[in-house]
Parts: sequence; structure tokens; C-alpha cells
Amino acid sequence: MNKFPRSAYVHIPFCHRRCFYCDFAVIPLGNKVEALQGYGSKTIKEYLYFLHKEILSIKNKTPLSTIYIGGGTPSILDPKQIKKLIDLFKENYGIVYGAEISMEVDPASFNQNDLHGFINAGINRFSLGVQSFNNQILQKSGRRHLREDAEKSCFWLKREYDSGRIKSWSLDLIQNLPLSGFKEWQDDLKKAITFSPPHISIYDLNIENGTVFKKLVNLGKLKLPSDEEAFSNSNSTHLILKNSGYSRYEISNYCLPRHQSRHNRVYWSGLGWWSFGQGSTSSPWGEKLTRPRVSKEYKEWVIKQCEDNLDSSLTNEDFIYKEVDEKIMLGLRLKEGIDIYKVFREQNFEDKYFESNLSKLLDEWARFIESGLLVRKGNRFFLSEPKGMELSNQILISMFKWWDEIN
Ligand code: SF4
Repeated sequence: MNKFPRSAYVHIPFCHRRCFYCDFAVIPLGNKVEALQGYGSKTIKEYLYFLHKEILSIKNKTPLSTIYIGGGTPSILDPKQIKKLIDLFKENYGIVYGAEISMEVDPASFNQNDLHGFINAGINRFSLGVQSFNNQILQKSGRRHLREDAEKSCFWLKREYDSGRIKSWSLDLIQNLPLSGFKEWQDDLKKAITFSPPHISIYDLNIENGTVFKKLVNLGKLKLPSDEEAFSNSNSTHLILKNSGYSRYEISNYCLPRHQSRHNRVYWSGLGWWSFGQGSTSSPWGEKLTRPRVSKEYKEWVIKQCEDNLDSSLTNEDFIYKEVDEKIMLGLRLKEGIDIYKVFREQNFEDKYFESNLSKLLDEWARFIESGLLVRKGNRFFLSEPKGMELSNQILISMFKWWDEIN
């Protein structure tokens, strides 16, 4: 029998406005939104009502060791609403001693009082969406905050961390935004380091369908860093962060010792997790279930879940993880990579297929091992750093090809 999930993700879909690169399931509520009363509060309260209902609908509630409140912009909520969410888990699932309870916050969407309120509510780790410290880049990307807001937020989080009131915090940046050439990117990294965040996430810009950036790209009106600039940017990320004591423990994540995100490791390690809220995806036993991305449909879905019993993917404890390709893909993102024998054993391949499937995969990977992108130590395979981490796509494409061929 699979173990019960020990992690929960909660999606808060509200944002002030939609950033030009974002295709998440978000509800832009404008600059004047007030979470408790006033503009936008009715929409927020209504959503929270259904979110609470969904959280309570799970039958096998067991104590959690990580909770992640993400979005959207969860810091639009009032600390009282965050406390209610955490209390709901505490009273109905239980939260184990030393649990990691994280929340995403955006500069200019919270003040110092809010921060104290979130900490008093039980949040002990924050992830701050700075994206860039450069005002021109921020404006070009449709972000609402300015450099000064980001600096203030970093300063507050650093102070809370230094005084021991929170366990960790992450400063998140986006690499290769428009106007972010070599100098601008170096400036962003160097500025980030001045706050000594224990954790730094560096996301590469992806141009997603339906975004403003996609439209501008199609019209030929978006100037992105060239391939050479993007290559130099990744190199400086590697060098600057390494020289400042950060280790790259996952493709997009760097940290000082003992500051890996425990919650995110659950996703990459293939362990199960609950997930609650519009557009979010849960995977308690291996099979994935994504909730509707539109408010009306999400609310109807919650009512149906409560009335007609849960979707089978939320109750089937004996589910066997079938998507071995996804397990390999996620495992290779991590610094320690994967034990390929362990992945195969969990797949329950019949004995006669075990060796032949493995040797076909190893044939695919031989050239990457030879060129130093992939490293083998016994049964363990991992990407080299920085070359393998940067060029991981080539290895993944060959693995997906193998998976298609054997199925
Ligand atoms: S704040 Fe974050 S979630 Fe909201 S629109 Fe911008 S990128 Fe998307």
C-alpha cells in the first residue's frame, strides 16, 4: 500500500493584475483589492468558502510535514485568512512538529504588519517573487512592483530570518526577461546576494501561449536576450552563486546548506501530495488530478466532490505509479539524480522486460555519459553541473523516445 501524502499545496488564484509572461490559473482583481472588506473581498471570501470545503472533503487525513500556499499572489489575503487556512489543516489533518509551512509573497502586496501576521499565523518560510530589481525590466514584464518595493521586502524577510522568527526564505528571479542582457542580469544576481537569502530560485523565461509576451513575439515586437546572451547569463548564474556559497540542488533552485525546499522536493522525488484550489494538480498516489481553472467550474466541481464521493485518483491507495518517464524526468532535475534500478522496480516491469528495457535506455544514454552531460555512479544517474543541468533537454528527449518505443 502506498503511504499517505504528507504534503499539501494550496492555490490562491488572486493577483492584482496578470504579468505579461504568466499563463497560470489566476484571477486579476486590480490594485484596489481588499481581502476582508471592500473591493474584491466578496470574490475572495466566496473562493475561500469552497477551498475550505475541498480541504475538508478528503477522507484519509493524516498529519502533514509540508504545506505550501502558492498562487497567484497569496499575500493579497489578510493574515486572518491565512491563519484560518493553517488552523484548518492543524485541526483536521494535524501538522507535525518542525513542519515546513511556506507561502509565496509578492513585493508591494504586503507590508510589515501583514508579514508579522503571516508569521503569527504559522508561516515559517516565504518565497518572494522579486523577478528583477531593474525597474525597466519589471515594467516591460507587466510586474506591478518596483525595485524599491523588492528591496524593502527583502530587507524585512532578512530581518525576520536573522532574528530567528522564520526558518528560511527564498528570493525568486526570472532569467532572460526582455532587456535583461549580461550586465543587467549580473546586476540582478549581485543585488540578490546582498540580502543573503538562504534560498534562490532562478526560473528561465518561457513564452507561453495566450500571454502578452506570446502576442508580442508573434508580432516581432519583443526583444529577448539572444542565444549568446542567454548562454552568458546562465554561466554567470552558475559562477556568481557558486562563488557565494550556493549549491544548485535542482535545475532552477540554489541554496545555502540545509535550506532546500522540502515541499518542492516532494514533487521532484515522486512522493504523493494533496492539492487544493482552482487549477491545482494533486497526485496523492501517483495518478494526477487537475481541478478546473475557471472559478464557476471549480465551485461546481467541489460541490460534486462533496456530494458524489471523491474522484478515484484521491482515494485509490493501491495505485501503482505508471508514468516512469515522468519519474525519471523529475528525478533527474535533482542534484542526486535517480537510482534507475529503484525506478524500474517500482514500475513492476515483468522480469523478462526489466533487463531489456534497462539496456535500451542505457544505449540511449551512452553518448551523454561519454560527453559528460550525464554521470553514472553505480545505479545512480545524475546531470553534471553546470553543463548537464543546462542541456538537460537533450537527455530528456532521448528518454521520452525510449519510453515511447517500449510502450
Ligand atoms: S503575480 Fe505571479 S501568478 Fe500573478 S500574474 Fe504575475 S506571475 Fe502570474
